[in-house]
Order: sequence, then C-alpha cells, then structure tokens
Amino acid sequence: MCLCLTAPTVEENLSIVDKYRGYADLVEFRVDKLNPREYPHALRLPSLLEGLPAILTVRRKEDGGGFTGSEAERLQKLHACIPHGFRYVDLEADVRDEGILKSAHEKGVRVIRSFHDFQGVPDDLPERIRSLPRSADEIPKAALFPRSIKDLIRLINGSGAVKGDKIILGMGEFGFPTRVLAAKLGGYLSFTSEKRINAAPGQVDPETLINVYRFREIDGYTALFGIIGNPVLHTRSPGIHNPAFGKLGLNCVYVPFHTDSLEHFRELTDLLDVKGFSVTIPFKERIIPFLSEKGEEIDHIGSCNTVTVTSAGWQGRNFDYIGFLKPLQKELGHKGKACSRATVIGAGGASRAVVYALRKLGMEVLIVNRTPERAKRTAEQLGCSWAPLSGDSHSRISGYADIIVQTTSVGMHPDVDGDPLAGYHFTGSEIVYDLVYTPNVTKMMKRAGEAGCTVIGGLEMLLEQAYCQFETFTGRKYPGLD
Ligand code: NAP
Repeated sequence: MCLCLTAPTVEENLSIVDKYRGYADLVEFRVDKLNPREYPHALRLPSLLEGLPAILTVRRKEDGGGFTGSEAERLQKLHACIPHGFRYVDLEADVRDEGILKSAHEKGVRVIRSFHDFQGVPDDLPERIRSLPRSADEIPKAALFPRSIKDLIRLINGSGAVKGDKIILGMGEFGFPTRVLAAKLGGYLSFTSEKRINAAPGQVDPETLINVYRFREIDGYTALFGIIGNPVLHTRSPGIHNPAFGKLGLNCVYVPFHTDSLEHFRELTDLLDVKGFSVTIPFKERIIPFLSEKGEEIDHIGSCNTVTVTSAGWQGRNFDYIGFLKPLQKELGHKGKACSRATVIGAGGASRAVVYALRKLGMEVLIVNRTPERAKRTAEQLGCSWAPLSGDSHSRISGYADIIVQTTSVGMHPDVDGDPLAGYHFTGSEIVYDLVYTPNVTKMMKRAGEAGCTVIGGLEMLLEQAYCQFETFTGRKYPGLD
C-alpha cells in the first residue's frame, strides 16, 4: 500500500508519513506537487523516511501532475534526485533519456513505466500495457478513468491479460473497486493519500483502506460482496460488513460499486465472481426484472435491497422492512402501549417497506407525500389513507400519530436544517422514527425529543437490515464487534 505525498513542503509530507506510519508499505513522493522553493530539499526526503521505500515522481501537467517547467527541466530534476535513495522512479512511456535509465540501473532504482488516461479506458489496453516496459524489470502502470461499468470491465479484463508485476488502477467513482481489490486483481500496489487530500479522484486514506476494507487480508481467493448505487461511495455499509468478516475470520470483502447499468453490472458479477450485493437508490425497483427468484415481500413492497448470486441467477430479498421493524418493536415493548395508527411521510421505496411492515403489525396508516398522486397510488396499493405533505394535513396527521415515520431525504446531510413536519406540534406521546442516518439526529428528531417523544434514528434500521444481509451472504450470524 503506497501513500502518495502531495503536500507543498517536505516537512508537511514528513508529518503525513508520521501520521500513517505502520500503515504504508512505501510512499510516492510527488516532487511535481512541491512548492518550487522546496526543490533543493527534495533530495533529503528518502533519508528521512526511516527505511520506508520511496517512489520518485515528477508528473507533467498533461498527465495530471503539477510540473509546469520544460521537459528538459523535468528530466534534469529526475536525474538529480535518482541517486539520493529512491527505490523506484515513475517514468512515462515516452521518456527515453539514457542518462536517467543508466543512473536508475546503476543505483538499483526500479522503473515504473506509466501512462494515464483521464478520458476513459482504451480499447487496446492490454497491448498498450504490454508495450510499456523497456526492459523485463520495469513495472507497467496504467492509471485510467473508467466512465461506466463497461469501462471498468474493460479495465479488469485488460489487467488480467497482463502477467507479472503491474499497477493498473481505475480512478473516479467507477474505478474505486480496483483500489480496494488491487491484490485480488494481481496488482503490485494500490495508492492512498492523506484524508484531507484527494491526490487522485477516488483515492482513499490508508486507515480506511486497511481498517475498513481490510486491504492486507485481500488476496486472489477473497470472496467478493458489495453494494450497487449511484451515487454510492458515501455508503456506511462497508464499515458494517467488513469488520464482521474480520471478526469471523472470513476471507471476504464488501465494496461499493458505482453503477450505471444493471446489464453491465451482471457481466461484472460474472467476471469478478461477486457472491452477493446490497442495492440502493436508484436500483431498488429497477433490479426486480433481473431477479430469478424473490422473497414474497418484494411483491408487496415493490423493491429489493439484497441480492445473492447463485448458479440459478440473482435471488432478491427486501430486508428494509425487517430492519425497520426491529428497533420499533423494541420501543413498542418498552412503551407497553398498543399503537394502532401511524403516519408515514414519503411515498418512495423506503416508504413502501415501512408501510408494509406497519400493515403487518395491523396498523392503520396515513401516507403523506410532497407529490400527492404518488401518495394516493401507494396508499391504494397498500390499503391506507393518504394526504398531501403540507401544513393543511397536520390535523389529519394528529389522528394517525401513535407512530410518525419520516422516509424522505429531507433533513439528510447536507440539508440538515430540513424538517418535513415544520410547524407540526408533537404532544410527546408519539414514537417518532426518522429513516435518515446522516446526521444521527435530524432537526425533526431533535424537536420531537424536546417535546418528550420516543425517538428512533435511521442508523438502527440500517444496522438491522445489514445484519440480515450478512446472514444471507455468509450463512453466519452477524457477530458482536469489540
Ligand atoms: P425514493 O424512492 O427516491 O423516495 C424519496 C421520497 O422522498 C419521495 O416520497 C419523495 O417525494 C420524498 N422527497 C424527496 N425530496 C423531498 C423534499 N425536498 N421534500 C419532500 N419530500 C421529498 O427514496 P427512498 O429509497 O424511499 O429513500 C428515502 C430516504 O430513506 C433516503 O434518505 C434514504 O437514505 C433513507 N433510507 C434509509 C434506510 C435505513 O436503513 N435507515 C433504508 C432505506 C432508505 P416525491 O414523491 O414528491 O418525489
């Protein structure tokens, strides 16, 4: 695992190394990102790394770097730095400077031969990679920017066609899995950067790669699980599933797949032998025609949040409703009070799972939604009442207020001042349940708590549905974590 150093001073770069000592196996020193005043100090860096090997890189602007001087100046800089303790030097495909190559050879500095494509993934990727090394000892490197799952498939196939040491990584949201799965895909290393710095699009920090994704445990045999969505990289689910794999000693990893096409994702599951995945917005409904088997709840809810991949095809389940019910039943048990009437704010996929769960408990439900036609449609399908989401409906809501469930994205980061029931007077006897989990306490939850209501946040539901997924994926109970 290689830590990219892109700070403007040597001192700042050294403090980043200190922060991640114990995580990084080597560093890439991006001399092109240094403040030019610091160039004379660049030579000192390898001797200050206390044994960590370093890659020397002076990247041109057109290759995504920060070096703006002439090519002659850049080569001169590389030439000057090589003898000062670097273990590797990154040279682009077109660099033929004999002096640099001779110096690298004499000093035992291994050449990484790189090319960058910020537009996509070239069709002739294997040929391009194979033509990179100038000698058997050079490591070919391709940094590509897949713009779709189809591009990602081409990248992985291209990488698979190249034997020996190689660094082939996808940037951006679609490329993210290649950073986590470098070892599974036969890569020599993966790059990381300091948390606040995004040295390349999609890069993660060393702690996340090692602690959340268990990068050191991943090998060619690691079983692959994940989550599809768009967007999806913000998901908390890898932080729930991966530590549990670790706790049970399972050689598995769970990775987010930013997805644009379910047809192409199906090809990817075959290529990578993905065993199962979670499904989030906007695929929860769209995935249903792709399922070869589905739980009976899917017919009622109309959406799917979990897929297990079997030889017979994709088996779908929706665990959102169980995830929703568990924390609620706990509170109902504590409250010792029969609740019979509930309001559900929102009429999207999550709302349907919630309404299905409440109806299973025998409750009468009122659905309120910004788009009244959608509330009406969902209400008619699931046997409930409906009303528009507006101040005019507040008196109606107060008649269905044993439980109030908020299922829209209002109040979710960054809309933290959003409150879908602004102006509604809580009496304190309601159970108020907000499915939003970022932040942990939304504005509406805070208001309800202050009025004396029992309040449940979305994180509990997220965890409960994840526990069901984990059991379906692995056949094992979700373990208690330390
Ligand atoms: P969805 O199918 O896209 O539905 C979105 C719902 O939110 C619709 O009812 C929509 O109303 C409403 N809405 C969106 N923006 C609004 C606004 N500005 N004002 C009023 N209403 C607005 O999405 P979903 O799958 O149901 O997910 C909804 C939320 O639930 C998301 O925040 C998601 O993170 C959360 N969720 C949490 C969990 C968990 O485990 N805690 C599980 C599933 C979902 P219109 O019909 O008028 O567009």
